[in-house]
Amino acid sequence: MTSSSVASPNFGDLALLPAVLSAVETLGYQTPSPIQMETIPALLEGRDMLGQAQTGTGKTAAFALPLLSRLELTRREPQVLVMAPTRELAQQVAVSFSRYGQNLQGLEVATLCGGQEYREQLGALRRGAQVVVGTPGRIIDHLDRGSLKLDGLSALVLDEADEMLRMGFIDDVKRVVADTPKEAQRVFFSATLPAEIERIVNRYLVDPVKVAIESRTTTGENIEQRLVRVDGGAKLEALSRILEVEPVDGAIVFVRTRAACTTLTEQLSARGLNVASLSGDLDQSLRERTIQRLKRGKVDVLIATDVAARGLDVPRITHVFNYDLPQDSEAYTHRIGRTGRAGRTGTSITFVGFREGRKVGWIEQATGQKMSEMAVPDESAIRAHRDEAFHQKVIAALTAGAEEQQALVERLIGEGYDPVELACAFARLARADEAPIGRLQAPRKERAPRDAKPGRGPRDRAPSEGMTRYRVSVGHKDGVKPGQLVGALANEGGIEGARIGRIDIRNAFSVVELPSSLPSSILAKMARARVAGRPLEISEDRGTPERAPRRRNDDGQAPIRRQSRA
Ligand code: ADP
Ligand code: MG
Repeated sequence: MTSSSVASPNFGDLALLPAVLSAVETLGYQTPSPIQMETIPALLEGRDMLGQAQTGTGKTAAFALPLLSRLELTRREPQVLVMAPTRELAQQVAVSFSRYGQNLQGLEVATLCGGQEYREQLGALRRGAQVVVGTPGRIIDHLDRGSLKLDGLSALVLDEADEMLRMGFIDDVKRVVADTPKEAQRVFFSATLPAEIERIVNRYLVDPVKVAIESRTTTGENIEQRLVRVDGGAKLEALSRILEVEPVDGAIVFVRTRAACTTLTEQLSARGLNVASLSGDLDQSLRERTIQRLKRGKVDVLIATDVAARGLDVPRITHVFNYDLPQDSEAYTHRIGRTGRAGRTGTSITFVGFREGRKVGWIEQATGQKMSEMAVPDESAIRAHRDEAFHQKVIAALTAGAEEQQALVERLIGEGYDPVELACAFARLARADEAPIGRLQAPRKERAPRDAKPGRGPRDRAPSEGMTRYRVSVGHKDGVKPGQLVGALANEGGIEGARIGRIDIRNAFSVVELPSSLPSSILAKMARARVAGRPLEISEDRGTPERAPRRRNDDGQAPIRRQSRA
């Protein structure tokens, strides 16, 4: 083997623009990730591409670095358009473009997301942004207004295409793909390849380079996966003990429902931990603030539901706990991928109830990796850990010196006390505030309040608990699909799609359940959202003059999984 094939790959070998390369160096990226290795040369050549990879594999740089290298900075019109399914993902991508392009004179990046002021967006477009990143709804909106033009586009990127499909943006996506100039590069990234995406790929991509980064090799290798056999009532104590003895910097604890999120957050904070919850209950700005607090170390443990933690990228997460088992192996892979970010190592610990063994088998089969079993630390392990920590503290105090205590100690010795006994007494005093070690068996079963589940009955039933019905002014006659409404309302309002309840599409309008607690400012934003070319004009639904023929969201296109999503 020659020495060059042994050396790890280098960004310098990838023919990136020097100004882009220097930014990568400033950011401290040492070597390109596998998907970057495969993607960058092909995109520099201007090829179309279909990339299949999970989150956390470095996709953003994989497309941003080559596309930035190919920009004509003096041509002040959109050249690169990136569509992402959610506001948060779009913002992340936009920030990445600005970072990777920090040494490009005159680079302007416009972010076109729902729920945000048009003024800033229009300003960036008018200044001649070369890179435009946004969510489908708002991008379409700017196209309709004429403020966004695609004629000068040299590349279109769909990030997380399958997620866009799931959120009901398929028609918007098709339209943008079709309106992109023929000769522009088309680059699609998707974790999975549903038929609908495949159709668009076959129709619009020309001889695409196909890159697939196996999730098996991207997750897992740097994540130590363990399982703990523990049932219901004992989980809380097990979690506290493991959090105490493991070398945790930041942790995410996954639970199944929003209610469980709240309960566990309260329980752990009562035990003195710096904990916060991240569930579908939070609106976008509160969610962003919570993540900032986690990043800055103001919070160490985040209790989260699957949907709320989607795409979360916080490098200091050393541990992921599956307090409740995930629904399936895909959710499992996504959860544990929240640790071991950017080439670090991480640990995942999965709680498995005594009747849940089979599910673990399925997960292991799907991920191709075995979880190693660990025991809940027993009392002696906790004591040993605390002794060790105290030992360190004493040594540190010795080094720091404690002369001011000398007179007192000499006096006690002068009174005839044995120095060892004295030291024991001091240690005991110093450790008086260590928490008692809890019991592993729960004294009684506590019942967590059940999440309000939307009913499936006919529409004239009362709205689901905590929800209010609103009427929006698009219906079957506009060809609207439930998924489209979820996507538009979620992005414009800046709330999680999972917070949107039942949707009933009628002919001339639709009825949507939204949380009663939504502030009117969010409703006002939602009302401005456009679907099928029409503003939604939300108003509270007070009965109906039109009889619903039948609920029709069984078209299989955009399943709204309101049942299990938390
Ligand atoms: P994805 O879109 O696949 O989920 P991102 O592009 O968001 O992944 O990247 C995940 C994280 O890895 C980010 O924090 C990013 O800054 C970091 N990253 C990307 N490429 C590299 C690299 N080559 N070396 C080190 N860190 C990287
Ligand atoms: Mg990404």
